[in-house]
Amino acid sequence: MNERDSEQVARMLLERGHTLTLREEEAEVILLNTCSVRDLAEQKALGKMGLLGAQFRNRPVAYGFLGCMAQSRGPSLLKDVPHLDIVVGTQKFHRVAEYVDQVLERKLARPMDDVRFSIVDVEEEQDSQRAIRDHLLAAGQVTAFVSIMQGCNMHCTFCIVPYTRGAERSRPVHEIVDEVRSLVARGVKEVTLLGQIVNLYGRHEFAKVDGKSPFVQLLEAVHQVDGLERIRFTSPHPIGFRQDSIEAFGRLPKLVEHIHLPLQSASDRILKAMHRTYTAETYAKLVDRIRLVSPRIALTTDIIVGFPGETDEDYAKTRDLVDRIGFDNAFIFKYSKRKDTPAAELEQQIPDAVKEARNRDLLELVNTWAKRRAEVFVGQEVEILCEGPSKTNPKRLMGRTRGNKIVVFEGNPRHIGQLMKVRITHSSGYTLYGDPAVLN
Ligand code: SAH
Repeated sequence: MNERDSEQVARMLLERGHTLTLREEEAEVILLNTCSVRDLAEQKALGKMGLLGAQFRNRPVAYGFLGCMAQSRGPSLLKDVPHLDIVVGTQKFHRVAEYVDQVLERKLARPMDDVRFSIVDVEEEQDSQRAIRDHLLAAGQVTAFVSIMQGCNMHCTFCIVPYTRGAERSRPVHEIVDEVRSLVARGVKEVTLLGQIVNLYGRHEFAKVDGKSPFVQLLEAVHQVDGLERIRFTSPHPIGFRQDSIEAFGRLPKLVEHIHLPLQSASDRILKAMHRTYTAETYAKLVDRIRLVSPRIALTTDIIVGFPGETDEDYAKTRDLVDRIGFDNAFIFKYSKRKDTPAAELEQQIPDAVKEARNRDLLELVNTWAKRRAEVFVGQEVEILCEGPSKTNPKRLMGRTRGNKIVVFEGNPRHIGQLMKVRITHSSGYTLYGDPAVLN
């Protein structure tokens, strides 16, 4: 989501005549779009901004913090970072370019001014969800993110997102479809629909039709866009993942076989304390129902270890379910205390060494499963969408299977942007290696 929001800001800066540089020391505008989900992310952003400010530059530079940390810390960031000019929250991304120009103009007009000129905008803005809609596509880019909603009303007790991103609000279906259509006209073949709780899309704005949730209605509408080949979404919540969403996987061929379905914990006691209103059993049953409709579906998840009060027994339950389900991959997070969230106030915070041990243990199990799930493909022919050069070895190409597995292969530049068949020759960890199956 941050990547998507940053893209909107970059696009607006380009429209105002700025250009992109890959060299930090050359930049006249330096904006860090921040994440607040864990403390580590905030510390990294603060550290990076400190380093950038310490570099010598022979011209005025506009420095800004955007996004979640800007939203939650607001003007106090100006005190912490003396060279900071701009602090813009999560509902004002569309104003950033304007603010940057104001700051630069002021700095250029009065270079010796020692009165600090800064801009802080962390207000709410009605309809800001409709402002994330413009794209900046690289040559040959065939995948794109599409933001379908902003905010979150779930109030998981560990999570800062409802405070930084505000209340849940969705864009109209027709605007999303228009955006997808124009992306496809520019060469995009795969879109990922983005929201904090994507399956709750439109629940305040739009009605159910024929028993179908607004989210499923949106999937159907996007599915009709000619030339679009693949639809992904992230992330849904197990609550509200009803039969209509499950059945969509059986009848919408563009909807790929992958769901990222955050579990967080498989101890009912901890789930309750997290305000995740499902149980380990209902989650497992949901997985069964999904696999019944789409047996080869790839499942990935998020898990938090060391939530306040998590005992060895609670952790063992999580471990058991992770082993029982056999996820294709999982993100594991050590619980991080977030300001003003209910869980931060709980007693029985877990020592870091315990979190670390559970993290390591679970990671090992997750990696074992990831490997197993990847090995299944060795010898098979799979469809990939080739995205471009591999990050680890730019001489090779990479693409993704419908199940979101990365496939690296010796290809030809003409393969970039193509949906193609590849024969998997071997796997390492969760990366697959392949040969183009049909050389054409
Ligand atoms: N609404 C998004 C959540 C984004 S945060 C979604 O459903 O995907 C991504 C993940 O970060 C969460 O699923 C959770 O596992 C983790 N997370 C959130 N708050 C956290 C915290 N305080 N400490 C550790 N991990 C956290």
